[in-house]
Parts: sequence; C-alpha cells; structure tokens
Amino acid sequence: MKYRSILLFGAPGVGKGTQGKILGVIPNFFHCACGDVFRNLRADSPLGRTFIEYSGRGQLVPDEPTIELWRHFIENNTKAGRFHPETDTLVLDGIPRNVHQAKILKNTLNVTAVFYMKSSDEEKLVARIQRRAIKENRLDDANLSVIRDRLHVYENETKPVLKFYGRHLVHRINADQKPAKVLADILRHATKK
Ligand code: ADP
Repeated sequence: MKYRSILLFGAPGVGKGTQGKILGVIPNFFHCACGDVFRNLRADSPLGRTFIEYSGRGQLVPDEPTIELWRHFIENNTKAGRFHPETDTLVLDGIPRNVHQAKILKNTLNVTAVFYMKSSDEEKLVARIQRRAIKENRLDDANLSVIRDRLHVYENETKPVLKFYGRHLVHRINADQKPAKVLADILRHATKK
C-alpha cells in the first residue's frame, strides 16, 4: 500500500513549516517535517552527528540514511496510532528533497498534489530564516553564508523534483500572502482527490 501524500514544496523560509503545522492538526492529515525529525535526533548519535555536519554547511544529509530515518519515523507513528495510513493524508515537508529521494520513494508514496510555495522576494526569505534561527535556536540558520548555500542547494538539487512529479500535480501558491490565505489556497486543492 502506498501512502497518500501531499508535498509542501519551496525554498527554505518560504513558510512550509507554518502551513504544515496548521494542516497537521486537521483530522486525517499527518504532518511530517523531515528537518524536525533530524533535529529530534540525539546530537551524540551517529546520524545526529552526520546531520549537524551536513546541515551546518547548508548541505543535504546523504539520501540513504535520510530515507531510512524517515521510514522509521512513519512506522513508529503508525504503531503508536498517531498516523493511520488507510485514512490519513501525509503532509510532507522537506522530503523528497532531490530527484534521487523522489525515485527511492516512488513505490512508497502516492503523491496527489505538490504545493509549490513561491515568494517573489529572496531577501524576505533570508530575513525570515535569520529570525527563526534566534527563535528556534537553529544552528544551521544562524550564519548568512550557510543560508546562501542552502538557497543554492534548493535551486540546484531540490527544484528539479517539481519536474519529476510533473505539471499536472504541481499547484503554484503565492507565499507572499498572509498565512490564512496561503492555507486557503492549499486546502482548495488538498481535499480534491
Ligand atoms: P528548511 O525548512 O529551512 O528548508 P529543514 O528544517 O527542512 O529546513 O532542513 C534543515 C536541514 O536538514 C537541511 O538543510 C538538511 O541538511 C537536512 N534535511 C532535511 N530534510 C532532508 C532531506 N529530505 N534530505 C537530506 N537532508 C535533509
């Protein structure tokens, strides 16, 4: 059985986490933010150390351990009764993050919509990321050159995922709007199929 899924897609700081958290409290949606799964690892575990090493440089963690961690997270939440694969829609935020990950997950996910959240102002994204660094104590976001590296990784490695899923699944969402309006735009399509 494949997991019915919608993807929150877009540059770092565009508001995927904000939308994901709201969607996650609606019955029959289950939010999974891959970055949060990594941040919840113990810093002295092998994968925790790998995460700090890569995210501290603005780079992606290697694909195989990432997907394995994600599968464990989903399985644990299924066993714990928080995620019900038969009835729930997964709201994925931050995964798949490159075409290779999308290919690995091809037989696992039934992607019904990709919400491509787009902001017209990159400087606004940078400012948001810096604010978040202070508020959420996120080391990977603290330094300006790391933020630039993350935006490059997004352009070069993550954006091609849009093409992988194809035009019929991708919905462009204006991320410069107020969060409630962004949510309304997402929900209009998320509940369709
Ligand atoms: P943002 O919301 O700013 O895009 P995330 O919290 O999603 O950031 O991710 C933080 C870091 O965690 C990334 O820069 C990367 O190092 C790592 N990471 C998160 N998801 C993935 C993934 N699917 N594959 C590889 N690395 C990931």
